[in-house]
Amino acid sequence: MPYQFDLLSHRYRDTETGRFVKVADVAKLIDQEISRSEVRLKGHARLLAQGKIDIAEFQTRMALSLKESHLRVAAVGAGGTNQLTPTHYGNVGAQLKKQYKYLHGFGQDLADGKLTPEQAIRRAGSYAKSAKTSFFESEFTSRGKYGFYAKRLLDAQSRHCASCISYQRLQWTQIKNVVPPGVDCECGGRCRCRLLYQKRTYAGMRL
Ligand SMILES: [Zn+2]
Ligand SMILES: [Zn+2]
Repeated sequence: MPYQFDLLSHRYRDTETGRFVKVADVAKLIDQEISRSEVRLKGHARLLAQGKIDIAEFQTRMALSLKESHLRVAAVGAGGTNQLTPTHYGNVGAQLKKQYKYLHGFGQDLADGKLTPEQAIRRAGSYAKSAKTSFFESEFTSRGKYGFYAKRLLDAQSRHCASCISYQRLQWTQIKNVVPPGVDCECGGRCRCRLLYQKRTYAGMRL
């Protein structure tokens, strides 16, 4: 990645031009990671369907791939692996724990013969998106440390779960009082809720 992280602005700069990297371009990086992860996860389900691995091995591989993916996007959100703190790792761990629970149910459905190979492959791939939550959480943890405020806005084109609607913040709000998309909501962050950030001092003055 030809990007360098600027801690104070909490943004990436292009190392060649020195310009800030657009938020949309960072989001693209995350989407690319999620697409690659999806391919990897589906690959595990394919091996299972071909009888090359058993259900236990499938679950182990899924869990490992998910962990690696969550950590990769968390590192992007924090500004690099060396910026990850125990709080970041704790949040990733909590997100993974949820996914492992789903994975347990997935294994049971497979053992009970409830899924066709196609359904199993699709379901395996659907886990990839969960990493997005780790990106947001990681970004929140880092920005919170540096005094950022946030707004959380609904995307007009998307359908929202009830939680997302209650998490909307139209005013600049201290980051610790904003819930990152995908955390504690039924839609799991598939709704494209948007975040805006601004750095402020004690009295809400813009820096
Ligand atoms: Zn939601
Ligand atoms: Zn939402």
